[in-house]
Amino acid sequence: MKTIIEPFRIKSVEPIRMTERPERERLLAAAHWNLFGLRAEDVIIDLLTDSGTGAMSSEQWAAIMRGDESYAGAKSFGRFEEAAQRRTGFEHVIPTHQGRAAEHLLFAVYGGAGKRVLNNTHFDTTRANCEASGARAVDLPGPAGEDTTSDAPFKGDIDLVALERELAEHGDAVSLVMVTITNNAGGGQPVSLACLRKVRELCDRYGKPFFLDACRFAENAYLVQQRETGCSGRSVAEIAREAFDLADGCTVSAKKDGMANIGGFLACRDADLAARLRQMLVVTEGFPTYGGLAGRDLEAIAQGLDEVVREDYQEYRHASIRYVVDRLHAAGVPVLRPAGGHAIFLDAARFLPQIPWNEYPGQALAAELYLAGGIRSCEIGSLMLGRVDPDSGNELPAHHELVRLAIPRRTYTQSHMDYLIEVVLDVHARKEALRGVGIVWQPAVLRHFSAHFEPLAKTAAV
Ligand SMILES: *Cc1c(COP(=O)(O)O)cnc(C)c1O
Repeated sequence: MKTIIEPFRIKSVEPIRMTERPERERLLAAAHWNLFGLRAEDVIIDLLTDSGTGAMSSEQWAAIMRGDESYAGAKSFGRFEEAAQRRTGFEHVIPTHQGRAAEHLLFAVYGGAGKRVLNNTHFDTTRANCEASGARAVDLPGPAGEDTTSDAPFKGDIDLVALERELAEHGDAVSLVMVTITNNAGGGQPVSLACLRKVRELCDRYGKPFFLDACRFAENAYLVQQRETGCSGRSVAEIAREAFDLADGCTVSAKKDGMANIGGFLACRDADLAARLRQMLVVTEGFPTYGGLAGRDLEAIAQGLDEVVREDYQEYRHASIRYVVDRLHAAGVPVLRPAGGHAIFLDAARFLPQIPWNEYPGQALAAELYLAGGIRSCEIGSLMLGRVDPDSGNELPAHHELVRLAIPRRTYTQSHMDYLIEVVLDVHARKEALRGVGIVWQPAVLRHFSAHFEPLAKTAAV
């Protein structure tokens, strides 16, 4: 049959509270126009993030009942460690309460003043942890990612020419090379195996460690299977394993392709590095056999790492995202193409060309999607990723002004996607009337989570 269905049936449901625009206008104003400030029950379809928001399977819930909550040497750790070793091939697996805690440990080793960390695009927490250590986080997105309209298959690839130049010019300062799969901040776009092989070669040539930010390793593997020459006959698990085999280690948020609601880990091949990381783990996270997680969480992740590489699951997940992207594109909505792994990205710069980057077109669009249809999305643009240039002190825009509609795993159905399309088209039909937002208050780091905004009555002349 041609119809790709959700490869599951629903055993437990969570009601959605319906709201109307006037109520949503009051709620958004009370949240200072920051969607993170809304109560989840005031959202109709919550696409803020795909992180920890997915539905667990009946097998995961069953595994939770098997959770062994012993402080040291719990059976659940054994199952978790074995599942992560089998999936990644890395011998040393260090559990953390989520991905950023793994990053914190990694940069305690590889960060520090004067160091440079290279990445296709640092995710916000990765950049924050890297910079908090005193190191500089250098983004090297590939040229294909610049054009949000082209159908290039691997827009997540790191810029290999820039990577080689960095290694040649700043060889001594570069402490770590990372590649984020899929490239979350770059639109959920995949990284090819060909690119990872080149990164491995360069890291060998310059003697640098190479880590994957592997939060969405299975989605990346599925897109490689679909798009990379010679990969169509290979399984998602096999392709994912080849990516891990090329690296020295990885950080993972289990809230993404771990299919769990909490958790993460760091894994590596080097026993000395693992011993150092475990020492720090005891101080900040917990004993090495639980690392900030309950035994039941370790069980859910162990099961999730098996379910995430199933072909029918990946096929359904990508089909539902592609469905929305294709419909919106056909209707003339500027949407990042080709469809990425975990989200639909609206190109707010092209959607709202009347709003300059420093009036945050992505935030303005995200606010209107909520007002129009109760959809909660997330700006990934100059609000989240804009930064102060360490040399000049000026605020710099991000590479793109995007609004991310992240799709939680196994949570929403086809009719929710149809509703989403209707809301986006409704806003698109009124796009000329939208105005930017100004920042009224912001914290020093990770400002998008808590900044206060006000709608600007009139967009200033650019
Ligand atoms: C979510 C994410 C992280 C951080 O993981 P948390 O579990 O949210 O702390 C790091 N890198 C990428 C690419 C992510 O998507």
